[in-house]
Order: sequence, then C-alpha cells, then structure tokens
Amino acid sequence: MTDSKINSTVLGYPRIGPRRELKHALEAYWDGRSTLPDLLLTGEQLRVATWQRLAALGITALPSNTFSFYDHVLDTAILLDAVPDRYRALGGPHDTHFAAPYYAMAPYFAMARGTDDLAPLRMTKWFDTNYHYIVPEIGPATAFKLADDKPIAEVREARALGLRTRPVLLGPVTFLLLSQPTPGSPARFTPLSRLEDVLDVYADLLAALRAEGVDWVQLDEPALVADRTGDELAAVRLAYHRLGGLADRPRLLVASYFGELADALPALAETPIEGIAIDLVRGRLPDAAALAGKTVLAGVVSGRDVWRTDLRRTLGLLRRVRDVAGEVVVSTSCPLLHVPYDLAAETDLEPALRDRLAFAEEKVAEVVELADELARTTGTAGPGTITAEPSRVASEPGSGRPGRSSRSPYPIRAAAQSQHLRLPALPVTTIGSFPQTGELRAARAAVAGGRMDQEQYERRIEAEIDRVIRLQERLGLDVLVHGEPERNDMVQYFAEQLDGFATPRYGWVQSYGSRCTRPPILHDTVSRPAPITVRWARYAQSLTSKPVKGMLTGPVTIVAWSFVRDDLPLRDVVGQVAEAIREEVTDLEAAGISVIQVDEPALRELMPLRRSAQAEYLDWAVGAYRHATSGAGDRTQIHTHLCYSETAEVLAAIDALDADVTTVESARSGARLIAEPAIKEFGRGLGPGVYDIHSPRVPGTAEVADLLATALRVLPADRVWVNPDCGLKTRTYPQIEAALSNVVSAARRTRAALG
Ligand code: GLN
Ligand code: ZN
Repeated sequence: MTDSKINSTVLGYPRIGPRRELKHALEAYWDGRSTLPDLLLTGEQLRVATWQRLAALGITALPSNTFSFYDHVLDTAILLDAVPDRYRALGGPHDTHFAAPYYAMAPYFAMARGTDDLAPLRMTKWFDTNYHYIVPEIGPATAFKLADDKPIAEVREARALGLRTRPVLLGPVTFLLLSQPTPGSPARFTPLSRLEDVLDVYADLLAALRAEGVDWVQLDEPALVADRTGDELAAVRLAYHRLGGLADRPRLLVASYFGELADALPALAETPIEGIAIDLVRGRLPDAAALAGKTVLAGVVSGRDVWRTDLRRTLGLLRRVRDVAGEVVVSTSCPLLHVPYDLAAETDLEPALRDRLAFAEEKVAEVVELADELARTTGTAGPGTITAEPSRVASEPGSGRPGRSSRSPYPIRAAAQSQHLRLPALPVTTIGSFPQTGELRAARAAVAGGRMDQEQYERRIEAEIDRVIRLQERLGLDVLVHGEPERNDMVQYFAEQLDGFATPRYGWVQSYGSRCTRPPILHDTVSRPAPITVRWARYAQSLTSKPVKGMLTGPVTIVAWSFVRDDLPLRDVVGQVAEAIREEVTDLEAAGISVIQVDEPALRELMPLRRSAQAEYLDWAVGAYRHATSGAGDRTQIHTHLCYSETAEVLAAIDALDADVTTVESARSGARLIAEPAIKEFGRGLGPGVYDIHSPRVPGTAEVADLLATALRVLPADRVWVNPDCGLKTRTYPQIEAALSNVVSAARRTRAALG
C-alpha cells in the first residue's frame, strides 16, 4: 500500500444545534409561538451548518440524513409507513410517495409526544446511552411502503451546496429488533418476522438513492453488538444477501457501534456488502479474514466520551487495520450524537483540563489528522512494531477499596430500626423532591448570576423547606423529606460540590426530542472536601419530630450520568464516588438523621450489552453501593430508589444492595413488578409506587387502596411501604396535595383493616 489518500468520516453528528437551536425551535412550534415554516427553516440551517463545518474541518466523506426533528428511529418508522392507525387519522399525506416537505408533522409529533386524546408511543433508552428513542409498533398487518423522501431530500439539499453525501439509514434488522409488537398481535409474533417486507422498501429506497447518484449508503446496525440468537444472525445474512444482491444500488456500508460484532461479523462478511464500520474503541480488531476485501471504517475516535485521542497509539492501530482491510477510512467509533458540539465556548474550564478534552468538533479534527497522517506514512507496521502500550491504568486512593461494614444482617437491623423509629405499619413517604416552582428556579439563577447573595438565597431555601415540612405534617406522612429545593439536578448538584468534577457551561447532549442534559465531567480523583447535604437535612429535621430522610445520589448514578475519565477502570472511579457518599452518610447519621435514602435510578444503565459481562458488572456496582451505605449503624434505616419499569430484571441485584427499604416505579407499569414471581423472594422493605407522578392525574383513595391490597397479597405487611413512584418535582402543588392526601387515606384505611 502506498501513500494514497485516506478518507475520513464520522458516523453521525449532534443535531440539537450548538446553542440548542432545534430545542428552542421545536418548543416554540409546539407552544404555537412559531409556524411550521419557521421550524423547517431551523432544521435546514442546522443541516447546512453541519455539512459546511464538517467539510471545512476536512472530512472527505460526509454523512447525510443524520438530522432529525425528534428521533431517527421514529423517522425510520415514518419512512417505512409504520404509522399505527390511531396516529394516521391525524392527517398527513402518508399514502403519497415522497411527501413534501418531509413527513406530515402532526402524526409525527403525536407518536413522539401524544396529544390530548392519544398517548405517545413508548420511549426507551438507546442501547447503553442516555439517548432515548421512540419504540415503533409493528404488527402482522403493518403495510410497509416507502412513504417519505427525507433521505433523498437531504442528498439534494447537500448537493445544492456542492457537497456529495452518504445517506445514513437505520438498518432493517436493528429497526425491527428495537420495535415492539402492535398491541393485540398474536402471542408468538415478533417484528423481525416482517423482515422480508421491510427489505422490499429498503430496496426501493436504495434504487431511488442510486438514481440520485448516491455512491455509498450507511446502514446502522448497532443491535449486532449485543448477544444475538441464531435466528437473528440468519436474519442478518438474509437482509444483506438480499440488499447486496440488488442489481443497481449504491455501495453498502453496514455500521456497527457500541461494542464488538463477534458472531455477527462472519454473518455480515459473507454477504456482498462493500463496507463495515467497526468500533475499535470498545472492541478489538478482528482477524484479517473477516475484513479482507471490504472497506473498513475504523472507529478509532471515541464518540462516547469527551477525551482527546492518543494519536500516536491510534495511528499504530490504523496501520494494522490497513494491513487487513481492502481500504481503510478513519472514523469515529459511533455517531457523535452523544457528545457536546464544541469546546470553544467553554472558557470557564481550567486550561489543563481543556487540553485533555475533545467535543464533537475536536474529535472531527482528530479524525482528519489521523487520516492525513496515515496517508503520509507508507508501508505497514508489521507484527511487533506495535508493542503493547504500557498500561495507562493508574492506581489511586479509594479505588476498589473493600467496604468495611458496621451493619448487622437485615433482621437485626429491622428490629433495631423499628425500636428506634416507631413507625406505623404501611409507612407513607415520598421519593425526595417536591414541586420545583418558577420562583425557586429564578432564585437559583439569581444566585448563580450574582443578583442574589448567598444569605438571601439560603433564607429562600429554608422558607421552601418550612413549607414542605409543614405540608407533609398536615397531610400525615410518616417519613418526611426536605423536598430538594436547593438542587437543580440530582447528579450535577453533587458534581458541583465534589472535587474531581467539572461542569461545562454549554455541554448539552440530546436526551430525547427537545430535551438535553449537561453531563458533568469527572476528570480527576474524586473526593469530598466538605459535607454536601448535611446543612439542609439538619435544618429540616429541626422543624419536626417525625424522621426526615437524608437524600443522596448513589455512586453508580453519579458516574452513569457524567462523562468519566478513561484512564482508570470504571469500577475504581465508582469506588471513589462511593467513598465520598459513604462519608456523607456518616455525617448525616452523626447530625441526627435516622433515615437516609441513596438513589440509584441508573443501576441498570451501566449494564454491559453482552450478557457474559453483566454478572461481573452487577457484582462491583452492588459492592460500590454497599460501600457507600454500610458505614451507617443498624438503627439508621437506608432507603434506595430506582425508577423505570425494567426494575424486575435486576430484582436480585436490588435485593443484594441490602438497603432496608427500596422504593420503585410500579403505578405506571400497572403493578407489573408486584406480579413478578421473584418478588416473593425479595427480602427487605419494598415500596411499589402507588401514585404515577409522570401524569397530572390524581389517583383516588380506592385506587391506591387496591394497589396496596395487591402488594399485600404477595408481601408481608411489615415490609410494605406506601409512596409515589418517583420524585414530585415535575408536578404542581395542587396536584400533589390532592394525590398525597388520597395516598395517606388509603394507607390509613388499609392499616385499620390489618387490625
Ligand atoms: N430523589 C430524587 C427525586 O425525588 C429521585 C429522582 C429519580 O429517581 N430520578 O427527585
Ligand atoms: Zn425515580
């Protein structure tokens, strides 16, 4: 191989806008403050700006169709006309080929967000990221056809700027694997059984793209990096033999990311596709045979973190790829959707930290630099040239330190707590936050902006705590909370007060639709310079004789919702955070707090995609939680809280957390958790949510009493707690007062019946 040009690309790019322009345009449109043409114009401006920026930075192979007004999985459902009838009725030209401009917006946003009369489609996490996609519904009768021209329109739009692009489509296998059966489908029906019909539409689309002069098409198949059955791998072969066998088509690139292809690689390699994208940040380089003759997009610049790439080491890796592949293209490990736009605006970050960081723009520059460097260096590395890198894994205080536990087994603790706390049967509590009013947000903004002094701000927070405590006493709750008025966000609040974290100003990442999060950056040894929550907990407890719960975020969740340094094993980083939380638990206890909740809603989120790695993960994640909480004495009651209905899948791990009380989502999932056979094995206190806080609806007393009766059929009465299914911060005071009042009545009525 000589010094021929090496191409560079990215698998995808952020689309919310560097200053969240799409968010603002969407919300203005939804609120009726702007019109559809305004929204469409913002979309066009963002696409154009992205292509021009990527081209200016030197990317030679530009992607298109990476933009979306809400979600690319939803876009794919629209593209294939997989629109459930109840939304279709909202109008829109779904039955015309190549509807313009784009799809009809009313059914699109109804599927995403619901309407007054229709619930939205389900939303769930996109693999192991914090991005959420809309889950399509596919049934035996779904009539697929090419119903939208978005991928084609974007090709034309870029061409008008003089730019050729590679349209990016969600691959047919991943699309179907991520879909759910239409309600009422036969029991054995799986969306994947509709593969051949879906392939007909992909074939039409590929023909149309070819007619547009498109050279390459990218088909994203991230589902292939998780465990797949033999049938599913057969579907992969079927799909790509079929699409690869089309007479006149663009060249096909199948993109895998978020891990290693493993068994799916030979399945793909035997088909006539021309290119494969592999994630070389999370996966190893496969052996030569699998990649021979193919164009390989070498995913060497991570799309999942914010760190600079080690260019020298990566260049060595790229040379090895060049040895085994037909052609090598330098790329990111996955779409850059999961990182912020650019560092330029982050002027408040310490220079030494900034130098270590790369957001999307900086990662693009790295891809281009690597491609240029690879082209300049002829010849191959050959075996042995790339010696094993010295391990970058440092050893640091706190990492993996075993947890000393001062706690007795649960039955002994339970007895000590019941003596100490003297709670009634079926104690009523809440998950932590109370409604976040506009005033509170304004006060936080004012103190951050220097328009309110610290003293005034603290009075404001205390006043809010007074109100929340008085309300709970009036309503008759048993274990009170302070309401979390001082917190903007359950992770950022802790990140701002722990050493080792930085909080970027504009580092927004899309979470779903118009929603973004701004993950803190964990870049150094984590430690707790001073107590974090003790001041407010002590204040709240001083106002009442009932126990007030101290409220902390768990180590796994803090790490899951941050960008984390990659030079230490994740478990060691989590161990450091666990140590800091342990210190906070001890200080809360010393301040007279006798119930402490450590939330771990993200426990399931860091779970590896491959089953073979899951047990080890759960083992250390549970260990970190226990380290964080086991400094407390027997009399101190430890609570934990987990959201999301998939809690059932990790029930055994939740039990292993060894918290005295676990509160979980349940109301929304129709008490599904309680119906789990394994629930009978659950050995500690459990509060299955009886009030769905995700909806403005107020549950009636009888309804709550029914849910309690269901729980009491499977759990012993002395272990059942009564609580909403999540924090109350998104609700209003009138809603929660009515709801909590009914919850307390239902608990009292049920208690009386227990005798
Ligand atoms: N304690 C937090 C709250 O009530 C828990 C939030 C969560 O579960 N995501 O807001
Ligand atoms: Zn929750």
